[in-house]
Amino acid sequence: MTAPLKAASAPLRRLLVWDYDWSLINTNSDTFVVEKLRPELMARFDSPCSGGWTALMDRQMKVPVFEENLLAVRRAAEAEAAQIVLSDANTVFIEAFLQSAGLRSCFSEIITNAAEFNSDGCLRVRPFHEGPPHGCPLCPDNLCKGLVLRRLLADYQPQRVLYVGDGGGDFCPACELRKEDVLLCRAPPSPPLTRFGLKRRLEGPPEVKQDGSAAKVVARVTEWQSGEDVLAAITDFLV
Ligand SMILES: [Mg+2]
Ligand SMILES: [Zn+2]
Repeated sequence: MTAPLKAASAPLRRLLVWDYDWSLINTNSDTFVVEKLRPELMARFDSPCSGGWTALMDRQMKVPVFEENLLAVRRAAEAEAAQIVLSDANTVFIEAFLQSAGLRSCFSEIITNAAEFNSDGCLRVRPFHEGPPHGCPLCPDNLCKGLVLRRLLADYQPQRVLYVGDGGGDFCPACELRKEDVLLCRAPPSPPLTRFGLKRRLEGPPEVKQDGSAAKVVARVTEWQSGEDVLAAITDFLV
């Protein structure tokens, strides 16, 4: 007996990929945490590390974020879209933020540099790629997001993908998107952000991928400046 065909009304397999710093949240988590821990809090610690965990988590819960982005995550989850965080930050910061925002269950994977607190309470971060170099000329040694995006396309087999990004590290995965996909690219003016690395590379001189082909974005590009823009684009994507 053959398996029954899927109902015609089965939801589209949609995948949302969120960059974290300056995309899902509205700050750089690495520098935000350091700035907030210094100097008034640091002075209270017995050693540079002790007490770091609690203070760090407390700050992470108050990280700047567009409320509309959090609403967009909830809407996408309700629409049964798969959601991934793909970030060059680290697991500890992102997990803490998502848990405190009550959004952890909306994401099937957090893909980023591995981090953990050692026995002294110090946060140690390891590069995402360990072992042989990834060889992508578009990306830093520790993480090629394009390599990850190719894996996500194979694993999730999405009919459509929406990628939210702002930085130069989002260019490589943007080039892996297909023409039916959507790239949300942060663009000025969008304070307090002052550098728009993804937009710069989209408009910059030609770049070449590892296989020698031109690094080009064929997906539809939608610029965003605010959480309202992100929510509107994702709501549209989910229809
Ligand atoms: Mg970013
Ligand atoms: Zn790459």
